[in-house]
Amino acid sequence: MSHAFSNGKYAIVGAGLMGRLLAVALAKRGAQVELFEKGGSDANLAAARIAAAMLAPLAESAITEDNVVRMGVHSLPRWKQLIDELAKPVYFQQNGTLILWHRQDTSDAERFASHLARNCDHNLALSKPIHLDSQSLAEIEPSVAERFTQGLYLPNEGQLDNRQLLEALLVELTLMKVPCHWNQTADPEQLRTQKNGYDWVIDCRGLGAKASWEHASSDKDLRGVRGEVIRLYAPEVKLRRPTRLIHPRYPIYIAPKEDDVYVVGATEIESEDLSPMSVRSALELLSAVYTVHSGFAEARILEMATQCRPTLKDNLPEISVDRKPNQAGLMMINGLYRHGFMISPAILDCALEILDAGASSTAIDLGLQVTASSNEELSTCA
Ligand SMILES: Cc1cc2nc3c(=O)[nH]c(=O)nc-3n(C[C@H](O)[C@H](O)[C@H](O)COP(=O)(O)OP(=O)(O)OC[C@H]3O[C@@H](n4cnc5c(N)ncnc54)[C@H](O)[C@@H]3O)c2cc1C
Repeated sequence: MSHAFSNGKYAIVGAGLMGRLLAVALAKRGAQVELFEKGGSDANLAAARIAAAMLAPLAESAITEDNVVRMGVHSLPRWKQLIDELAKPVYFQQNGTLILWHRQDTSDAERFASHLARNCDHNLALSKPIHLDSQSLAEIEPSVAERFTQGLYLPNEGQLDNRQLLEALLVELTLMKVPCHWNQTADPEQLRTQKNGYDWVIDCRGLGAKASWEHASSDKDLRGVRGEVIRLYAPEVKLRRPTRLIHPRYPIYIAPKEDDVYVVGATEIESEDLSPMSVRSALELLSAVYTVHSGFAEARILEMATQCRPTLKDNLPEISVDRKPNQAGLMMINGLYRHGFMISPAILDCALEILDAGASSTAIDLGLQVTASSNEELSTCA
């Protein structure tokens, strides 16, 4: 990568997941960065604050496209590097995912397992799922061995603590003295026309960028997909890794964080409603989690939270670049949907390559959609 960044001036709008990652990466490369965020420094308005932050490309391959899976595989080792470079520690675990099901759902589980096995044949970077009998399940995850006699283990998958990450990125911005404008709604179009202003304005507003995506292309509507999660304090439960329950009506995941905290989620509802969790969702999530481990009965409910996943029409992420004479370049990054944590290091790498060299071979390799919305053609379009 060249030294172009040290001469550049960048405004980043939105300090959720993507905005913070980019701000830190650019500032570390010597760029002048300024960050604008509608909410507070605790990311109170960001989907990133509510997420479970599981990094599970193989598990997600059951419901997403191959290019997203490739981005997830690329991102796992990158997360480790990115976190190691931060001054404040972030809980990161790469201990695999456990898949469980009740006896009556065995045929669904078999279908799921063969689907994943087929996906591994297509993508050799994925580690094959391992079937667990009652003995191997008891060795891997003793706390569920009483209720389950078999399972599926997906090696190498990971998770991190999203709130610790957001906080650690904030500390990094503070250490590098990056000007951050909290509680300030900004308009990227307006920022790019400022006289003597920025070289690039980078729009990382998540769902806040809805109107801009509609404006950019009629077939690129940005929508929110509502998700609800419950945070539990459950010292009686000793799960060692993210665990998913295959269930015809209430498929849930349980992501164990530090200090006996568990994130249980998530509903997936086609709605931009940000009102509090419904009774139905609470009942479903809590009933399902109790069937995995009886210790959840005595858990304390720390939080019930709702947010919307920023999602483009095809459920795939995209980088859009617009260059106009006498204006800052505009880069829009969006559509991270339910995979933001899983794929953001890959998207970060592609965005840095485009900002640096005008093209991204990584985007082509991974199949990340990069579009140029003005006359100028980008050689990165995939
Ligand atoms: C319930 C739930 C569970 C999830 N679980 C996972 C998971 O397990 N694994 C995973 O990989 N992903 C998960 N995700 C997805 C992940 O959280 C998102 O993909 C990711 O946060 C999107 O990042 P972003 O930076 O684009 O948007 P956000 O994180 O939402 O950040 C956008 C920021 O822009 C700000 N903003 C908006 N408008 C303006 C404006 N005009 N001016 C200034 N600032 C503005 C917002 O306030 C916000 O802080 C989950 C999401 C949800 C909702």
